[in-house]
Amino acid sequence: MTTTTKQLTLESRLVQTGVGRDERTGGISFPIYPSATYRHPAVGASTGYDYTRSGNPTRQLLEETLADLEGGARGLAFASGMAALTTLFLHFSAGDHLLVSQDLYGGTYRVLDQVFGKFGLAASYVDTTDPAAVAAAIRPESKALLVETPGNPLLGVADLAALGALCRRHDLLFIVDNTFLTPVLQRPFDFGADVTVYSATKYLGGHSDLLAGALVARTPELGERLYFLQNSTGGTLPPQDCWLLLRSLKTLPLRLERHCASALEIAHWLQEHPRVRTVYYPGLANHPGHQLSRRQASGFGGMLSFRVDTAATARQVLERIRVISFAESLGGVESLLTLPAVQTHGDIPEGERQRLGICDSLLRLSVGIESACDIIGDLEQALA
Ligand SMILES: *Cc1c(COP(=O)(O)O)cnc(C)c1O
Repeated sequence: MTTTTKQLTLESRLVQTGVGRDERTGGISFPIYPSATYRHPAVGASTGYDYTRSGNPTRQLLEETLADLEGGARGLAFASGMAALTTLFLHFSAGDHLLVSQDLYGGTYRVLDQVFGKFGLAASYVDTTDPAAVAAAIRPESKALLVETPGNPLLGVADLAALGALCRRHDLLFIVDNTFLTPVLQRPFDFGADVTVYSATKYLGGHSDLLAGALVARTPELGERLYFLQNSTGGTLPPQDCWLLLRSLKTLPLRLERHCASALEIAHWLQEHPRVRTVYYPGLANHPGHQLSRRQASGFGGMLSFRVDTAATARQVLERIRVISFAESLGGVESLLTLPAVQTHGDIPEGERQRLGICDSLLRLSVGIESACDIIGDLEQALA
């Protein structure tokens, strides 16, 4: 990246990503390099690329863009969010203990519980919206804290500054899964995070047509260690998908503006509906994390959940929606509605789900960028 583009705003830098970087052609779009391997100019010499698991020009541009977007030393692109998380967990050893948000992506719980548990990596699930509860769960063998904020699916807000200070005091690696807000709305490194995790399948990709993940390390040392793990285990993002994600990132700030504005409008509308019991959205003034969210993020995001009167109503809504799709996932331009208790959080044991409040009448809406009035119209007829 040239010095002139460095001085631009984040929005402009994203749009300008790769422009003119292909010096031979001056291409506005940076090309896809599908080559798995590279010819060496001489013995002991390299073009800088030897083998695509270790480095690929298209992935390199994406990884540099991710690092720049986050303000970190190193970005790494993976074949999925789970591949990114798995690689990150491989940083730890048997006997280590992790503190993890209880309001967590179901797949992260599953891989820790059913895969890493077997290898002796222990995890405790704590209410990260309560720093005292996190402090109380720290053990001598605790090595890291993994936080998702806002949480999933109840959108609880964790105090990043307080947790960052706690991690520093106890020498814990501070990991933030920033999938829901992205660096455009929330900047974990400003609060002491060491590494951020993304399911780029969600907002970064943004079109429900790409599975991808990312890690961004704040320091070069941690970046080097995570790169070693990425290259050793091979969960890298293919060049074609790197290109698609690069294209998606150009419109990320613009998309988020619309996601946020529509989510707030829809949350207000849902709050007034007689069959809706509770709306969980940090942008609502009555949300417990509202003030905190205003302080640590520049937007409330496009995710909201709501509890309807009965499980039967929830089923009715899922069967009747026409504009919104009944589907898992989130963060795409298309609105998606899901039933967390059965779908995204189906792997969390029933008792634990009940305790967390993930009941059969809870619906999670990923607000797309269709007109808010069309999304509201669809919910209105589905709830009637
Ligand atoms: C989807 C998701 C993941 C997993 O990412 P994949 O791309 O589906 O592998 C991890 N964390 C959060 C918060 C997610 O929403």
